[in-house]
Amino acid sequence: MGIVVENVSKHFGSFKAVDQVSLEIKTGSLVALLGPSGSGKSTLLRLIAGLETPDSGKIFLTGTDATHKSVQDRNIGFVFQHYALFKHMTVRQNIAFGMEIRKMPKATVKNRVDTLLDLVQLSGMGDRYPSQLSGGQRQRIALARSLAVEPNVLLLDEPFGALDAKVRKDLRAWLRRLHDEVHVTTVFVTHDQEEAMEVADVIVVTNKGQIEQVGTPAEIYDHPATAFVMSFIGPVN
Ligand code: ADP
Ligand code: MG
Repeated sequence: MGIVVENVSKHFGSFKAVDQVSLEIKTGSLVALLGPSGSGKSTLLRLIAGLETPDSGKIFLTGTDATHKSVQDRNIGFVFQHYALFKHMTVRQNIAFGMEIRKMPKATVKNRVDTLLDLVQLSGMGDRYPSQLSGGQRQRIALARSLAVEPNVLLLDEPFGALDAKVRKDLRAWLRRLHDEVHVTTVFVTHDQEEAMEVADVIVVTNKGQIEQVGTPAEIYDHPATAFVMSFIGPVN
């Protein structure tokens, strides 16, 4: 499902967290929102999710005006940096939860849990509890859980931010592989240039609530459009 953000603003008091932003995200793409802390990345993601309502502008999902649709009606999967799995539930129960509250048939739920465990390469771990998993494994389960209800869009807010460098690196490659298999339209927030370059098809560079540049990693790296992009992205020295 494609996403169109049309001239969207979100203010907190007099502070413009998102300032007249327009953006088009193609169906099936893997897009990074990249910018410094406070540049409005999370607010933009929350606006797309329906967790915030814009002060002005519109948000279209698959060509339909979703600006005033509820979070549930947008059919979006969400993973945050500290995505709490239910501690008292096993991995299988965590993944099944969203399907069970939608009253999906037991056999369907079981099959899909198996498929998803396979997909995130944690097939042997279904009966463990979150406390028995590493941080990286927990984030993979969080992703499996968000995919369980077959969202049209997957939104990830610094999903690997809390993990150590080595695990982050593994997970980047893994997210890329997962996306190549599932093809769900994915937007992830990061302030890490390397992460965006390595994972995304398209990078959206944010600064002070606005978009500085949209392009492929190569375009952004080779032809930074503004002085800000050049200093934020440019060759590391
Ligand atoms: P980023 O994710 O790029 O770090 P955010 O979208 O979280 O940026 O925040 C942008 C700015 O908006 C921040 O400086 C923050 O202080 C402000 N902000 C975000 N959410 C709220 C809120 N609910 N209330 C007040 N200010 C907020
Ligand atoms: Mg943020």
